[in-house]
Amino acid sequence: MESKALDFFAIMKKIVLQTSIEVFPDLAALAPADRELMDRARRALQHSHSPYSGFRVGAALRLVNGAVLGGSNQENAAYPMCLCAERVVLAAAAVQYPGVAAESMAITAHYPGKELREPISPCGACRQVICEVEQQHGQTMRILLRGDVGEVFVLAQGRDLLPLGFGGGVLER
Ligand SMILES: [Zn+2]
Repeated sequence: MESKALDFFAIMKKIVLQTSIEVFPDLAALAPADRELMDRARRALQHSHSPYSGFRVGAALRLVNGAVLGGSNQENAAYPMCLCAERVVLAAAAVQYPGVAAESMAITAHYPGKELREPISPCGACRQVICEVEQQHGQTMRILLRGDVGEVFVLAQGRDLLPLGFGGGVLER
């Protein structure tokens, strides 16, 4: 009987999922194109409609054709209808530039009365959508994250934000 437990341990396998993040000390340390993209995300904050949370989020997307778009969070009195900045800008790109892949997305936020000193990162729903867009176009999307001040996190692809995520591949027959 004691061998049963041993068999269980014999077939056990451990999978380690790793995410790599490049950390830049500040905005000035970024390559010019990345700095411009983060600036664009910052400017998008002014169009945030966030009267309920007060948490303003801006996102900017650079497409492979060089086009740059901005988006911001759009809240609603019916809270579940609130739209995140990331999904707003991805949807805008999908209708304005259909079929064009995104190469980078910058995300930042501002919360009046509290300085955001750490990079902010997308919610789970936005991570799922970012991964879908990557898969749709067969192109990875670099992700740049920043708060009000301080370090900038750069991830090589959206998939790094969602290890073991659900993808459309499983629905293929
Ligand atoms: Zn989100």
